[in-house]
Amino acid sequence: MGFVVDKKPISIENGEGVYVYDEEGTEYLDFGASYAVTVTGHNHPKVVEAIKNQADNLMYIFNSYPNSVRQSFEEKVAEVSPHNLSNVWLSNSGTEANEAALKFARSSTNSSKIVAAKKAFHGRTTGSLSASWKKKYRKPFQPLLDVDFVDYNNEEDLADSIDSGTAALILEPIQGAGGIHTANKEYLERARELTKEHNAALIFDEVQTGLGRTGAMWRCEKLGVEPDILTSAKGLASGMPAGATITKDWIADDPGPHGSTFGGNPVVAAAGKETLSVIQDENLPQRAAEMSEKLFQELERLQDENGMIRELRGEGLMIGIEVRRNANSMLKQLAIQHQVLALPTGRTVLRLLPSLIVDERHLKQFVNALEEVVSNY
Ligand SMILES: *Cc1c(COP(=O)(O)O)cnc(C)c1O
Repeated sequence: MGFVVDKKPISIENGEGVYVYDEEGTEYLDFGASYAVTVTGHNHPKVVEAIKNQADNLMYIFNSYPNSVRQSFEEKVAEVSPHNLSNVWLSNSGTEANEAALKFARSSTNSSKIVAAKKAFHGRTTGSLSASWKKKYRKPFQPLLDVDFVDYNNEEDLADSIDSGTAALILEPIQGAGGIHTANKEYLERARELTKEHNAALIFDEVQTGLGRTGAMWRCEKLGVEPDILTSAKGLASGMPAGATITKDWIADDPGPHGSTFGGNPVVAAAGKETLSVIQDENLPQRAAEMSEKLFQELERLQDENGMIRELRGEGLMIGIEVRRNANSMLKQLAIQHQVLALPTGRTVLRLLPSLIVDERHLKQFVNALEEVVSNY
């Protein structure tokens, strides 16, 4: 694995907005946002304040007691979710949000078969891992759940796999860890049709694509395709551990016994509610769309000028830059020589997932650094 996923030679101690700082105070431009977690930037003052206030009031109470902060977070999640998805189940991470989604789909359909896409990543607990593709993550833990893997963006393959025994089809609207591959609208529409026809649940994992990153709160909303279950995590509470499984009524009617001790923790809920308010109040989805256009323009110019860049992929501020080779050493150079942090996905793709608060100054800083790095290859 590459430099930016293993232990790094720099220790990050502070953060503010789009920047993080090491022990010596060296400033780094964070264009990976720790895998899309810091949607609102590092230490957004409103989120920090919400956390401090809530910690003073109540740090924890078990879920069986109603709590107004948890409740208002749930309401906020439902408010920002597609119209018919109004039942919110809170957890602590993306893998748990998907784990719950798969369980709820099974109990609601009384079926068991799960269909997922090749190159998918849904998390590392046993259920979510079973629906994830990468051999390296799966191999030591086999046998996992039986999952049918289909080619992403292949409608025929979907039609062959989904039948009356199918409980769920789970898809990322853009595959993140799999290399930034974007689903076609027609493909997701076909997924919607087929699951409906066979009474299976359609799950969209928007852990990475959600919360404004693609230029709309959810990518599925932008395309007008409504799943039965939507999952969110990563930036949901600006870095405090939060996951959400959001469902239509027919799923919530029969979710089966499922639970979590920490899901909906009041401090996390306060951070989450404030995060969603900031995303709305600062129009971050729209901002992501505008900054994306400018960034793609610059990246296209670089691509024209430099043969190292093979392909640009993605949407909004979820961008994959496929290079001919050496993505990891480029990332290392970006970090060490230019104080710019980005992420790998595979050996040949640089992955950008910056905070949605980036402005043109940050884009320019990133592009200038990348330009110097690629020109050395
Ligand atoms: C990161 C990620 C997950 C897993 O989230 P964790 O919080 O690490 O468990 C699941 N799905 C997608 C699409 C992700 O990007």
